[in-house]
Amino acid sequence: MVETSDYIARLRVVGGDPALDFVNTVEGERDGEPGFEHLRSYEDLVAWGYRVGILSEERARRRLRGARGRSSEAEAARARALELRDDLYRLFRAVARGKSPPLEALEALRLAESEALSRARLVPGEEGFVWEWVDEGDLDGVLWPVVHAATGLLTSGPLDRVKSCAGCRWLFVDESRNRSRRWCTMEECGTHEKVRRYLERRAAKRG
Ligand SMILES: [Zn+2]
Repeated sequence: MVETSDYIARLRVVGGDPALDFVNTVEGERDGEPGFEHLRSYEDLVAWGYRVGILSEERARRRLRGARGRSSEAEAARARALELRDDLYRLFRAVARGKSPPLEALEALRLAESEALSRARLVPGEEGFVWEWVDEGDLDGVLWPVVHAATGLLTSGPLDRVKSCAGCRWLFVDESRNRSRRWCTMEECGTHEKVRRYLERRAAKRG
């Protein structure tokens, strides 16, 4: 078992891509300030990696062991992860709105990807060779698969399916057949929106 805080265990994983799931580790209003933070420690970052399947249980445990007794380094690695998350958010939010991504966010991803690939090796996978990351000593390594997923999404798409939730700051790949998904989840944002509209209509009738 990988020890997980309840806010990581309860986090909804609905982005449809590890890069967007990573962006969605902080909650908040659409275009508002970031709200509830799910990555409150380096351990949370590792537990999240395990939760979304980019780290096996064994790898997650090894990463946690590797971070023991290195709390200031781990905190610095978490801070870098949050910076990268902000770049990915700005980048894919722009994509979702049909705008050009900020150049500095593209550059940050390019640098992170070249770092990630320089630490990876090519190994046979199920349908061909895949990148694999084995260096557990580097605390930044948790994010290398995320960085690579982000680059893959940006270069191979489907970018026309990247959307931002109509109710909050979360991003997702709309895999619905008629591309009609509007919410991160119906329970969270869809319902709030319906209630809001209902109250508006009621207020309008009274007014
Ligand atoms: Zn939402």
